[in-house]
Amino acid sequence: MGLEELLEGFREQAVVDRPTMCKKCNIEYKYLGLGHYKCESCGEVVTDDYGKVRDYVEQSTEDVGVEKTSADTGVAVDRIRELIEMGKISLTKGGRK
Ligand SMILES: [Zn+2]
Repeated sequence: MGLEELLEGFREQAVVDRPTMCKKCNIEYKYLGLGHYKCESCGEVVTDDYGKVRDYVEQSTEDVGVEKTSADTGVAVDRIRELIEMGKISLTKGGRK
């Protein structure tokens, strides 16, 4: 495996941080959409970085900055920038989909 492939692998992992298994029940989470997952056995709902940021932006009434979003959601600034670059989220009301 070349260095490029290796780096690509890391990048992929960083981007796709989706929770996979419920540690309590040892079964796969069901994807509910928009960054939310649910364990159908114990009913636990988990949210990935995308879901956290999306929920936060969704409930905010005005444009929010990356730093504030990071502080309030606990998601790293770099990670938020990544999601914005990927076109997954927008922190401005006008650009929101
Ligand atoms: Zn469970």
